[in-house]
Amino acid sequence: LFDFKIIVGKNGVPVAENFRLEQSKIADTIQAGQVRVRTLYLSVDPYMRCRMNEDTGSDYLLPWQLSEVADGGGIGVVEESKHDSLAKGDFVTSFSWPWQTVAILDGSLLQKLVPQLVNGHLSYFLGAAGITGLTALLGIKEKGHVAVGANQTMVVSGAAGACGSLAGQIGRLEGCSRVVGIAGTDEKCSILVQEMGFDAAINYKKGNVAEQLRELCPGGVDVYFDNVGGDISDTVISQMNQNSHIILCGQISQYNKDVPYPPPLPPDVEKIQKERNITRERFLVLNYMDKQEASVLQLCQWIQEGKLKVRETVVEGLANIGAAFQSMMNGGNIGKQIVSVSK
Ligand code: NAP
Repeated sequence: LFDFKIIVGKNGVPVAENFRLEQSKIADTIQAGQVRVRTLYLSVDPYMRCRMNEDTGSDYLLPWQLSEVADGGGIGVVEESKHDSLAKGDFVTSFSWPWQTVAILDGSLLQKLVPQLVNGHLSYFLGAAGITGLTALLGIKEKGHVAVGANQTMVVSGAAGACGSLAGQIGRLEGCSRVVGIAGTDEKCSILVQEMGFDAAINYKKGNVAEQLRELCPGGVDVYFDNVGGDISDTVISQMNQNSHIILCGQISQYNKDVPYPPPLPPDVEKIQKERNITRERFLVLNYMDKQEASVLQLCQWIQEGKLKVRETVVEGLANIGAAFQSMMNGGNIGKQIVSVSK
């Protein structure tokens, strides 16, 4: 049996060449407690940028090691099992799935998936019904202070990405009366409005963001779901209301820079934040895993009811995973970036 492995290399700004495909042999037999899986889908995510540094900047993230197999969220099918509760044909997932076409894994580290929950669309378990959906939902619930009937305006940055596209829709489902997205292309903006139910969207690469935001949020901003940080966030925060709330989800515009997380706001923006009593607490989805099961069921229900529209950008083949990661970091994706490894 052979498997193809993606091997990590290191450089400054990530490029596809940081990753190398190698062929190698895996064991012919599996041990008690193990399963042999075929990989179906792999996830590429912004946090992986931090894992490319020796110091990831986070105590919960281990660095990828040079010339070792990379890992991340993955889904596969069991082909052979010596684990009591897993059988051939079961679909399984893990946060630390090796970037291999075939792998031998410890069965106790895998979670079994129920494809019917996502209408058979298994890759959703890496996005809308997985960590991404949980991040959007729990970010809003834990840090957004969204209430039905409160007439709140929500702004989402990175709005056409995996997290952002769900966050805007969930903001609406949870009670926001107005939802405005900020994204990097006209195509993304029109999908947000026409498909995802956003009231409006701003292409931050065109025109004046501050002016457009003032027009589109005449009552100011009550909730800001922040995926990007940097200039975009400074502009949004400047238009936030007294006692409003930032959901500090991510700061992707800063990930290639050597700054602490969360990066401090510039002094003039920090002054506004303090004077207006705007909350900006760090949010990390992994701290709320006790709510995972109930929240995934909620997300699946919304997906089945058509209340949550899901977009994916799918790249085929393990050999293209490095390019898919780089593309996602540069805005090449609409919705969740997925790598389809085998059918
Ligand atoms: P994603 O939004 O699907 O993909 C990244 C997007 O970021 C790109 O499509 C690009 O879209 C945008 N982007 C890249 N560079 C940018 C820049 N300099 N300025 C503005 N936008 C930029 O990724 P995701 O997986 O959903 O993650 C979104 C954010 O959530 C990330 O910051 C991630 O770290 C964070 N996150 C946090 C948690 C948590 O527990 N707190 C969990 C998961 C994810 P454009 O075309 O619009 O530029």
